[in-house]
Amino acid sequence: MILLRRAEWGADKKVPRRGHPIGPLRRTEVYIHHTVITDTDTTANEWETLEDVKCTMRQLQQLRPDLGLDVPYNIVAFCMSDGELVLCEGRGLDRTGAHTKNHNRSALGIAFQGNFESEPLPADLDSQLVDIARWLRILRNKRGFINLGNSRPNGRQVWGHRDAKSAGTVCPGQKLYDRLALIRFI
Ligand SMILES: [Zn+2]
Repeated sequence: MILLRRAEWGADKKVPRRGHPIGPLRRTEVYIHHTVITDTDTTANEWETLEDVKCTMRQLQQLRPDLGLDVPYNIVAFCMSDGELVLCEGRGLDRTGAHTKNHNRSALGIAFQGNFESEPLPADLDSQLVDIARWLRILRNKRGFINLGNSRPNGRQVWGHRDAKSAGTVCPGQKLYDRLALIRFI
């Protein structure tokens, strides 16, 4: 797993990091999203190079002026074609997000880059979901997020965006939604 901080993906510093500071103890849940932004080649939900990833993150920073002209998620996840999982810092772990109404303080919002409603799943998705679970376990057990996952749906440890009341969205896409039970970190 590779983690890219904002400076590493080249966040435009003229566009300030949004959200309010929030401590790890306040985070009780994880919400999973998809960005609906796909790759232009034949594998729409797989990313080939770190340069692709960085370029796409810079676009994401500017894409949603309605949500405050910053990446609205805490973290954006890229499923690489070689099986690697790349996590990019959006607003970061210590800021409120703009991803799930009524859950932007309590939840870490993690978006998978792609369209998991209409496009095929990445070939290595299942192991990449296990990778993200391992990272969440480290947050919970070693980085002070001791309440993370205390709020969770029946039979799973993370929420999908569409689980939120009156979300009115298919996010994170049916195909990813069907795999969310693989993210087990408690
Ligand atoms: Zn969403």
